[in-house]
Amino acid sequence: MSKGKYWEEAWETAARADIEAKQLADLKEIVQFAYDHAPHYKRSFDEAGVKPQDIRSLADLGRFPTINKKTQRDAQGVGSFLGELAAVPEEDVVFVSTSSGSTGVPTMSPFTQKDFDEWQNVESRLFWMAGMRPSDRYIHALNFSLYVGGPDVIGAQNLGALCIWGGTLPSERLIFILKEYKPTAIWTSPSYAWYLGDTAKKTGVDPKKDFAIKRIFVAGEMGGSIPATRKAIEDLWGAELFDFYGLSDIFGACAAQCEHHDGLHIAEDHILVETVDLNTGEVIPNGERGELVYTTLRKHARPLIRFRTGDIGRFVTEPCACGRTQGRIWVDGRKDDMFIVSAVNVYPSDIEYVVRGLDGVTGEYLIRITEENFTAHYEVTIEKSQGVDEPDESVAARASAALKARIGVKPQKVIVLPDGSIERSTHKARRVIDERKKEEWQKEGI
Ligand SMILES: [Zn+2]
Repeated sequence: MSKGKYWEEAWETAARADIEAKQLADLKEIVQFAYDHAPHYKRSFDEAGVKPQDIRSLADLGRFPTINKKTQRDAQGVGSFLGELAAVPEEDVVFVSTSSGSTGVPTMSPFTQKDFDEWQNVESRLFWMAGMRPSDRYIHALNFSLYVGGPDVIGAQNLGALCIWGGTLPSERLIFILKEYKPTAIWTSPSYAWYLGDTAKKTGVDPKKDFAIKRIFVAGEMGGSIPATRKAIEDLWGAELFDFYGLSDIFGACAAQCEHHDGLHIAEDHILVETVDLNTGEVIPNGERGELVYTTLRKHARPLIRFRTGDIGRFVTEPCACGRTQGRIWVDGRKDDMFIVSAVNVYPSDIEYVVRGLDGVTGEYLIRITEENFTAHYEVTIEKSQGVDEPDESVAARASAALKARIGVKPQKVIVLPDGSIERSTHKARRVIDERKKEEWQKEGI
């Protein structure tokens, strides 16, 4: 097998018209298949007065009903173990992943053998795009328990890399492996990449000299697409960072950055992207910021037709400087994390963008959202780096002005603490404290 720059050159550089023709053929097939085999779609299409034959162009999909996480939860276990969104009998299913359940009951995502193999081909393609080659040694430092990101290591193996199934090892063990086995690529979360590099340094190990990591793949948080966060992790490790993006409902990685780091190329042979208005659900033009809605074009075990992801972002189809014609997405955050201050939509990723770009601070932050007289406010806590003698008030004023410039609305307060005051997290960092939801948290015992 000899590959050049691309894993599948013909597809990755196909003309827009050819991409859309293939998408339309697969869309017609999967919508018919879902209607014929998944009770939920039969019912919801009938109720909406639409039929699979109504799809004559990609735009016709916009007339079909959407589904969301709640639809998945409600359909799960109804009528059969896999529920009313499943379109194949259980004996055809070889694998299920489950979601983390961070927004309610965990949902199962089933795969047939063909779904699974095609998924892993997408993973190989994304790894290849991010520069992985058969000569690489790769450590997959993602959770293997139930999580959809676990099996992605098979995509790296199929590409020919030497794979180490690391999973969620304690950091000292992982540092040992990085030092002794000298893997050249690793996948983890942005906060953990930072934590791990920082922890190594504190124990006298220099990630730049003592490790051989050239590429870091990250997913699960916004950091990988925030330039200042990316640069901080790259400087710490002496490696290039590539942002990946996955969904527990579809694939461990659905999209990834190429060497230009300008958006994430999404697997358009498997996922048809629409963007809809957050409030009305109406389709809006490509390139505008809205909620991303995905239709899985080839996953037969549980087809997702117009799945509202809750992810806010944009999608463009203009070719990239890398030569790929596969559309790119930019994800700004989760709809659930967005909060509104003075009629402005604020995303924690915007705050991170500012904090990571400030001089004289560590880049760690906490956001607190409060409400007074039905008006929401936000407050940001940051840390001053060691050895910086600028007064705290002056650091706070700079931060406040930069936040106002980026977001359009000033924080009520910026609190400046010494380096090390904010607890470092080893996996997904919880950086937003919404005081308005305190009662809910207390009920959940958080
Ligand atoms: Zn590209």
